[in-house]
Amino acid sequence: MFDLIIAADWSAAARPTGPQPRKDAIWVCADLKGTQTVEYFPTRTAALDWIDGWLEQGHRTLLGFDFAFGYPAGFATALTGQDAALPLWDWLAERIEDGPDNANNRYVAAQEINRLFPGIGPFWGRPAHLDLPDLPPTDRARDGHGLPERRAVETVVPGAKPLWQLAYAGAVGSQSLVGLAALSRLRARWGAEMQVWPQETGWTLPLARIALVEIYPSLWPPALAPIKDQGQVIATAQALRDATPDWFTAPGLQPDADRIAREEGWILSVQPAASCFALPPGIHWTTVAEALATLRATFPCRQAKQQVPVGAASGRILATPVTARRANPPAANAAVDGWGFAHASLRAGVIPVVPGRAAAATTTADPVAPGHAIRIFTGAALPPGVDTVALQEDARVDDWGLHLRAIPKAGANTRPAGEDVQAGDAILPAGRVLRPSDVALAIAAGHGTLPVRARLRVGVLSTGDEIIAPGATPPGIHDVNRPMLLSMLSRWGVDAVDLGHVPDDPDALRAALDAAPVDAILTSGGASAGDEDHLSRLLAAEGQVHHWRIAIKPGRPLALGDWKGRALFGLPGNPVAAFTCAALFARPTLLQMSGADWAEPVPLRLPAGFAKRKKDGRREVLRARLRHGAVEVFASEGSGRVSGLSWAEGFVMLPDEACEITPGDLVDYIPFADLGLA
Ligand code: AMP
Ligand code: MG
Repeated sequence: MFDLIIAADWSAAARPTGPQPRKDAIWVCADLKGTQTVEYFPTRTAALDWIDGWLEQGHRTLLGFDFAFGYPAGFATALTGQDAALPLWDWLAERIEDGPDNANNRYVAAQEINRLFPGIGPFWGRPAHLDLPDLPPTDRARDGHGLPERRAVETVVPGAKPLWQLAYAGAVGSQSLVGLAALSRLRARWGAEMQVWPQETGWTLPLARIALVEIYPSLWPPALAPIKDQGQVIATAQALRDATPDWFTAPGLQPDADRIAREEGWILSVQPAASCFALPPGIHWTTVAEALATLRATFPCRQAKQQVPVGAASGRILATPVTARRANPPAANAAVDGWGFAHASLRAGVIPVVPGRAAAATTTADPVAPGHAIRIFTGAALPPGVDTVALQEDARVDDWGLHLRAIPKAGANTRPAGEDVQAGDAILPAGRVLRPSDVALAIAAGHGTLPVRARLRVGVLSTGDEIIAPGATPPGIHDVNRPMLLSMLSRWGVDAVDLGHVPDDPDALRAALDAAPVDAILTSGGASAGDEDHLSRLLAAEGQVHHWRIAIKPGRPLALGDWKGRALFGLPGNPVAAFTCAALFARPTLLQMSGADWAEPVPLRLPAGFAKRKKDGRREVLRARLRHGAVEVFASEGSGRVSGLSWAEGFVMLPDEACEITPGDLVDYIPFADLGLA
């Protein structure tokens, strides 16, 4: 719908924010038909000049700023006599001074505004050194100003702060005061070429060339970029690419939608029904299946072959197909204890017995003459001249010879040579994770050693300033993940290497990753796009990220990538999420890298012993166990609940699509045993 999308992350800074790009400053991303340019600006004037340059190019443009375009009901009327935002913008532009060096009078102007209202407020919050008696320093000092705290849209967006707060952590009020004054000037410059949604257009798509809209970048997870704000404007511009005319229609359920449009405004793309777990529109979330397909295609086996004694091969992965070196059994032998003879040579009556006995597979007895019988025991090789064995329970011997109660069928009670395996038969395929039973077969088929893959070395690194060793004295969070992941790895047959712990520091993290003497690395923590999430950022800057936004719960954030030739799984910090993602993503990949066949567990279909409803768009993995023929799930889905992991004996996998499960419905259950984790 738009050729050019501009997403601006605004700032109310009172001084230039310096020549070096930094966070909490102005960042703007311009996306022209999918090609993005992202810039940092030390001043508002510089940012607005740059934006003007883009607007002059004449494209159909969606221009978004991340501050409120209106105030709660009643504010505009009190100041301008009209219940509309745009006259208020002009009113503010006349009173807010904002210099090219960011110097501005917003606190003084806010005090002037407060004086127009009864009581104390509505604005509050100011630097301690400013002597502004009618701008209270705290929220609680306000009283009787008579205005609502929030706009309608701010009751819907999780985490939105009221506009009245001008200072201190997270305040957004100052940005709107200086921002709306700036937008008033921008509108004056662009005239009819620009329309403000929804203040000017109502709940319809703006038809003017430039659509000016309010945006809220934290609706979308930031793109990976060295600075979070930078990632946020990139992600926002990308998300806005998917805008459809629907986004501009009334957000529903609002009783006074017209007044909201005119006076308060709305944040583009916010829907009132959205829960904090709803995936915002405009983002491509990688499905679990897509992520697994990438891993499968990206990380083949590169492990060398080696020959190991067959007795040490259990748990190792076969490097080449194995064929039988000899038949099993190597020779025809007796299946029971009894009497052996040649069936065709039997005559009715007493059978003469030859001296001696055939006792074992290895003793070669003399040939047995036609019409004669020999004492034979289970497993003994049939002597020449013997093709049939009579059970000893069916026989009696006296001085005359052998008496049989019944004549057995030809070949009875014998095992032919090679009835199990013939020499040269294929017995075990390459890629097999050898089990004790496979070792048995290989030995029976004549093998003393087997060709296996060298063990994969996999490192485990914990990140986070707060992490302390197990058992160490608090404060701190005990490192659950590293010992947990190391023990998971050893069950998967790889060499688990403890890479220790690094603080939230990119240089320490880089050094630890570079130095790791391993083929693959599991890290935990620091994988989202917060300020302390260095892993994802470092991976984006110096490694390669294959997938990052994976539609799975628990599991975000999860970074799958490459660090200088090593597979890297940037697991979430939460132990439950780390466990789940390691089991679902790292396990099949590490097994494949180790030389095994790609092995995703095949779920059992079992009746649910629980009820549950989920939305469309992401896989959900529940901690579960099987009791009395039904699958029960852990009471809490919170990903901090390590007790649920220990309680569980498997996972329930709910599909990506929305679903509603009632007790008795069949669900997919994966026992931990099938993940090598029982
Ligand atoms: P992060 O992904 O780094 O933001 O971490 C998310 C949460 O997981 C935070 O509460 C961390 O304290 C916690 N966490 C991170 N690493 C570990 C660990 N190794 N063991 C236990 N908890 C952790
Ligand atoms: Mg952390």
